[in-house]
Amino acid sequence: MSSFTTYFTSLFKGIKSLLTGMKVTIKEFFTPKVTECYPENRHTTLHVPERFRGELIMIHNEQNEHSCSACGLCQMNCPNGTIKIESEIIETEDGKKKKVLKNYFYDLGSCTFCNVCVMNCPQGAIKFENTFENAVFRREILVKKLNHEGSKMKEKKVAEQKPTNTNKE
Ligand code: SF4
Ligand code: SF4
Repeated sequence: MSSFTTYFTSLFKGIKSLLTGMKVTIKEFFTPKVTECYPENRHTTLHVPERFRGELIMIHNEQNEHSCSACGLCQMNCPNGTIKIESEIIETEDGKKKKVLKNYFYDLGSCTFCNVCVMNCPQGAIKFENTFENAVFRREILVKKLNHEGSKMKEKKVAEQKPTNTNKE
Protein backbone atom coordinates (compact mmCIF):
# COMPACT_ATOMS: atom_id res chain seq x y z
CA MET A 1 0.00 0.00 0.00
CA SER A 2 1.36 3.40 -0.98
CA SER A 3 1.96 6.08 1.62
CA PHE A 4 -0.75 8.17 -0.10
CA THR A 5 -3.39 5.48 0.48
CA THR A 6 -2.22 4.87 4.05
CA TYR A 7 -2.49 8.58 4.80
CA PHE A 8 -6.10 8.85 3.64
CA THR A 9 -7.15 5.57 5.27
CA SER A 10 -5.85 6.82 8.62
CA LEU A 11 -7.49 10.19 8.08
CA PHE A 12 -10.93 8.67 7.42
CA LYS A 13 -10.59 6.33 10.40
CA GLY A 14 -9.78 9.31 12.61
CA ILE A 15 -12.79 11.30 11.32
CA LYS A 16 -15.08 8.28 11.80
CA SER A 17 -13.85 7.84 15.38
CA LEU A 18 -14.32 11.57 16.09
CA LEU A 19 -17.91 11.51 14.76
CA THR A 20 -18.74 8.45 16.87
CA GLY A 21 -17.52 10.29 19.99
CA MET A 22 -19.41 13.48 19.03
CA LYS A 23 -22.61 11.46 18.51
CA VAL A 24 -22.43 10.17 22.11
CA THR A 25 -21.63 13.65 23.44
CA ILE A 26 -24.52 15.32 21.59
CA LYS A 27 -26.95 12.58 22.66
CA GLU A 28 -25.98 13.02 26.34
CA PHE A 29 -26.22 16.80 26.01
CA PHE A 30 -29.94 16.56 25.22
CA THR A 31 -30.75 13.70 27.63
CA PRO A 32 -32.72 14.92 30.73
CA LYS A 33 -30.40 15.37 33.74
CA VAL A 34 -30.82 13.02 36.69
CA THR A 35 -28.08 14.42 38.90
CA GLU A 36 -29.27 15.75 42.29
CA CYS A 37 -28.08 19.33 42.85
CA TYR A 38 -27.15 18.58 46.44
CA PRO A 39 -26.86 20.45 48.80
CA GLU A 40 -28.64 23.30 46.96
CA ASN A 41 -31.83 21.20 46.72
CA ARG A 42 -31.76 20.24 50.42
CA HIS A 43 -34.99 22.11 51.18
CA THR A 44 -36.68 21.77 47.81
CA THR A 45 -36.44 18.68 45.63
CA LEU A 46 -34.21 16.39 47.72
CA HIS A 47 -36.02 13.14 48.43
CA VAL A 48 -34.80 10.68 51.08
CA PRO A 49 -36.97 7.55 51.33
CA GLU A 50 -38.91 7.29 54.61
CA ARG A 51 -37.52 3.83 55.32
CA PHE A 52 -33.88 4.86 54.88
CA ARG A 53 -32.04 4.06 58.13
CA GLY A 54 -29.85 7.03 58.90
CA GLU A 55 -29.77 7.28 62.66
CA LEU A 56 -31.36 5.59 65.67
CA ILE A 57 -33.49 7.85 67.87
CA MET A 58 -35.63 7.44 70.97
CA ILE A 59 -39.21 8.55 70.51
CA HIS A 60 -40.33 11.32 72.90
CA ASN A 61 -43.75 12.96 73.15
CA GLU A 62 -44.52 16.65 73.78
CA GLN A 63 -44.24 16.08 77.53
CA ASN A 64 -40.64 14.86 77.07
CA GLU A 65 -41.66 11.29 77.88
CA HIS A 66 -40.34 8.11 76.26
CA SER A 67 -41.38 4.45 76.44
CA CYS A 68 -38.02 2.87 77.26
CA SER A 69 -38.17 0.63 80.33
CA ALA A 70 -34.39 0.06 80.35
CA CYS A 71 -34.99 -3.68 79.84
CA GLY A 72 -31.73 -3.95 77.87
CA LEU A 73 -33.08 -6.19 75.09
CA CYS A 74 -31.82 -3.88 72.35
CA GLN A 75 -28.36 -3.79 73.91
CA MET A 76 -28.28 -7.59 74.28
CA ASN A 77 -29.35 -8.18 70.68
CA CYS A 78 -27.10 -5.59 69.04
CA PRO A 79 -24.45 -7.62 67.19
CA ASN A 80 -21.60 -5.19 67.72
CA GLY A 81 -22.06 -3.43 71.05
CA THR A 82 -23.38 -0.19 69.63
CA ILE A 83 -25.88 0.42 72.44
CA LYS A 84 -25.00 1.01 76.08
CA ILE A 85 -27.78 1.38 78.61
CA GLU A 86 -27.33 2.80 82.08
CA SER A 87 -30.20 2.33 84.48
CA GLU A 88 -30.93 3.10 88.11
CA ILE A 89 -33.37 1.89 90.74
CA ILE A 90 -35.78 4.49 92.09
CA GLU A 91 -38.53 4.32 94.67
CA THR A 92 -41.99 5.15 93.36
CA GLU A 93 -44.64 7.16 95.23
CA ASP A 94 -46.24 3.98 96.49
CA GLY A 95 -42.92 2.79 97.94
CA LYS A 96 -42.08 0.23 95.21
CA LYS A 97 -38.62 -0.16 93.68
CA LYS A 98 -38.49 0.45 89.95
CA LYS A 99 -35.72 0.28 87.36
CA VAL A 100 -35.62 3.36 85.14
CA LEU A 101 -33.45 4.53 82.29
CA LYS A 102 -30.61 6.85 83.21
CA ASN A 103 -28.64 7.08 79.97
CA TYR A 104 -29.12 5.48 76.57
CA PHE A 105 -25.92 5.72 74.54
CA TYR A 106 -25.82 4.89 70.85
CA ASP A 107 -22.64 4.87 68.78
CA LEU A 108 -23.57 5.89 65.27
CA GLY A 109 -19.99 5.19 64.20
CA SER A 110 -20.28 1.45 64.82
CA CYS A 111 -23.94 0.91 63.89
CA THR A 112 -24.56 -1.38 60.93
CA PHE A 113 -28.19 -0.18 60.58
CA CYS A 114 -29.42 -3.77 60.76
CA ASN A 115 -32.58 -2.69 62.66
CA VAL A 116 -32.33 -5.64 65.10
CA CYS A 117 -32.58 -3.31 68.10
CA VAL A 118 -35.82 -1.75 66.83
CA MET A 119 -37.33 -5.15 66.06
CA ASN A 120 -36.51 -6.46 69.54
CA CYS A 121 -37.81 -3.50 71.52
CA PRO A 122 -41.04 -4.61 73.25
CA GLN A 123 -42.06 -0.99 73.92
CA GLY A 124 -41.59 0.51 70.47
CA ALA A 125 -39.36 3.07 72.17
CA ILE A 126 -36.77 3.48 69.43
CA LYS A 127 -36.85 3.90 65.68
CA PHE A 128 -34.70 4.91 62.75
CA GLU A 129 -34.84 8.40 61.29
CA ASN A 130 -33.94 8.99 57.66
CA THR A 131 -31.51 11.79 58.49
CA PHE A 132 -28.19 11.34 56.74
CA GLU A 133 -26.00 14.41 57.20
CA ASN A 134 -24.05 12.90 60.07
CA ALA A 135 -20.45 13.49 58.99
CA VAL A 136 -18.23 14.81 61.79
CA PHE A 137 -14.50 15.29 62.34
CA ARG A 138 -14.20 13.37 65.61
CA ARG A 139 -15.52 9.84 66.20
CA GLU A 140 -16.53 10.54 69.80
CA ILE A 141 -19.19 12.98 68.57
CA LEU A 142 -20.92 9.99 66.97
CA VAL A 143 -21.72 8.57 70.42
CA LYS A 144 -25.12 10.05 71.13
CA LYS A 145 -27.32 10.07 74.19
CA LEU A 146 -30.78 9.19 72.91
CA ASN A 147 -32.88 9.95 75.99
CA HIS A 148 -33.46 13.70 76.14
CA GLU A 149 -32.29 15.72 79.11
CA GLY A 150 -34.92 15.67 81.88
CA SER A 151 -37.05 13.05 80.13
CA LYS A 152 -38.82 10.23 81.93
CA MET A 153 -40.74 7.09 81.10
CA LYS A 154 -44.33 7.53 80.01
CA GLU A 155 -46.81 6.38 82.65
CA LYS A 156 -49.15 3.75 81.24
CA LYS A 157 -52.69 4.82 82.04
CA VAL A 158 -55.41 2.17 82.13
CA ALA A 159 -57.49 4.14 79.61
CA GLU A 160 -54.54 4.16 77.18
CA GLN A 161 -54.12 0.39 77.26
CA LYS A 162 -55.47 -1.56 74.31
CA PRO A 163 -58.91 -2.98 75.05
CA THR A 164 -58.99 -6.76 75.08
CA ASN A 165 -61.47 -8.35 72.71
CA THR A 166 -63.90 -10.32 74.84
CA ASN A 167 -66.24 -11.13 71.95
CA LYS A 168 -64.12 -13.88 70.48
CA GLU A 169 -66.19 -16.64 69.04
S1 SF4 B 1 -29.19 -1.14 64.02
FE1 SF4 B 1 -28.07 -3.05 64.49
S2 SF4 B 1 -25.97 -2.38 64.84
FE2 SF4 B 1 -27.23 -0.54 64.94
S3 SF4 B 1 -27.69 -0.28 67.11
FE3 SF4 B 1 -29.37 -1.47 66.23
S4 SF4 B 1 -28.83 -3.63 66.54
FE4 SF4 B 1 -26.97 -2.40 66.83
S1 SF4 C 1 -35.19 0.74 73.82
FE1 SF4 C 1 -36.65 -0.93 74.03
S2 SF4 C 1 -35.43 -2.81 74.08
FE2 SF4 C 1 -34.04 -1.07 74.48
S3 SF4 C 1 -33.95 -0.92 76.69
FE3 SF4 C 1 -35.54 0.49 76.00
S4 SF4 C 1 -37.45 -0.71 76.12
FE4 SF4 C 1 -35.74 -2.18 76.21
